[in-house]
Amino acid sequence: MNRGADMEKVIGKSILKGMAIGKILFYQKGQQQVKHIKVEDTEAEKKRYEEAKEIAVRQLNELQEKATKEAGEMNAAVFEVYAIMLEDGDYVDSVLNIIETQQVNAEFAVATTGDNFSKMFAEMDDDYFKARAVDVKDISERLIDVLSGKENGGNIGNEPVIIVADDLAPSETVQMDKEKLLGFVTRHGSSNSHTAILARTMNIPALIGVDIREEWDGKLAIIDGYSGTLYVEPDQETYDQMKVRQEEDRKSREMLQQLKGKEDVTLDGKKIKLYANIGGVKDVASVLANDAAGIGLFRSEFLYLESEDYPSEESQFAAYKTVAENMAGKKVIVRTLDIGADKQIDYFNLNHENNPAMGYRAIRICLDRVDIFKTQLRALLRASVFGNIAIMYPMIISVDEVRKIKEIVEEVKAEFDAKGVPYGEFEQGIMIETPAAVMISDLLAEEVDFFSIGTNDLTQYTLAIDRQNMKLDNIYDSHHPAVLRMIQMTIENGHKHGCWVGICGELGADPTLTKTFLEMGIDELSVSPSLVLPTRKNIREIDIQKHNS
Ligand code: PEP
Ligand code: MG
Repeated sequence: MNRGADMEKVIGKSILKGMAIGKILFYQKGQQQVKHIKVEDTEAEKKRYEEAKEIAVRQLNELQEKATKEAGEMNAAVFEVYAIMLEDGDYVDSVLNIIETQQVNAEFAVATTGDNFSKMFAEMDDDYFKARAVDVKDISERLIDVLSGKENGGNIGNEPVIIVADDLAPSETVQMDKEKLLGFVTRHGSSNSHTAILARTMNIPALIGVDIREEWDGKLAIIDGYSGTLYVEPDQETYDQMKVRQEEDRKSREMLQQLKGKEDVTLDGKKIKLYANIGGVKDVASVLANDAAGIGLFRSEFLYLESEDYPSEESQFAAYKTVAENMAGKKVIVRTLDIGADKQIDYFNLNHENNPAMGYRAIRICLDRVDIFKTQLRALLRASVFGNIAIMYPMIISVDEVRKIKEIVEEVKAEFDAKGVPYGEFEQGIMIETPAAVMISDLLAEEVDFFSIGTNDLTQYTLAIDRQNMKLDNIYDSHHPAVLRMIQMTIENGHKHGCWVGICGELGADPTLTKTFLEMGIDELSVSPSLVLPTRKNIREIDIQKHNS
């Protein structure tokens, strides 16, 4: 092995303590790569396009077959629609026409056609056609990927890789094949962005704030998530050291396995519920593997982010039912749709906002577009028959909102009662993630069964620091006394007024605060699946009485 002549060592901010060794795949968003190239032989270019179209149709047919097996015929139908769109006469004519008249490469002709058609759809009044804007973009990107010899979007090839990218949106991350992802390295992003949270949920080492370079594509690299270092083309000595560290990492994880089946209880007998956060059905396996006592936060918006269009009641019902059944009676807290801010979904056609974190998001959208909200509630209520589902509402700022939500839930129940559709018992709770909710937590506690403190947003809104802003990452301080006092106040008010209180923000897994939270009287902590056992270890080593004496 002759490694290392050109080793580069770059420092970034680590998102997860772990090691990854593998080849780099430099990931670029499809559209950015399209170059305008003059061509002489337009006939050859047209032929190239026709061939790419056939490949894309074949890919879509294969995807349709795979999706039919995995997600049912209805959910797979979208690929059939895409295949039909690829053959659409107007679309095809436009591409051929641009190649011919402008004497340009097929990629450019497809990109131009895709842009034109998607703009045209987006401007239509009809919601159905509006939503097709995204589909046209998608098929155009697929065609461009085929033409330029790249795999399609979410597919990152067959070999496991470390993805290096400028930035990754949650919608991109969630579509990547988890089996093939060894790690992420990005230039942008912040430690509390949803892409970072996803990396933690998927237990994938990730670094942000790295000065990335395209030349790294295909090179061997190592992510050391303990020191926040990326080694590109490591020398033999570094490689050997990191291999040792990787092995130590594996062993310490193995040691934690011994805590499986053990209680979440302090040395002096204080019991706590230790739950896990998930983004979708596929994360349940890791919740079970890490022996969490329940799911404290199912970020249901990822069902929407993974989807090409509004997920139907049936597809949501299937997802919630599967999670509830797999958890076999353990609590599953599903948070209703929380999009907006960094979680953008094209088919919602949300307007551009100057300050989206404080904008039209989460429950505000649901209370405005009640049809979307009711579809989700129906799916949740129906699924509640199959397990221990609880429903949680995000971004609450007033009692009024909670009352409106409860009225809508009652409407859904009344519809079901009239039709004889069964639903189970379910707790209802709210996220406490705005200072407003903290300050009126005594009043809110009268309305709901539980609180779950979202420290990611609570920190952002309390300190007036955008959680996405990398420049402010070093002063985004969830340990700030203002945040800790808010947590204390929420727990006290919750308990006084009959609510149990948990934490589902990233701070819940902070080992330096586990004792503080227990002293404050927290009832539940919900953490990334991979952090369940480390958190259990902390809890079991704490003696609250001793500290107080
Ligand atoms: C939070 O804000 O702490 C939270 C758990 O929700 P999200 O990170 O999805 O905004
Ligand atoms: Mg939040």
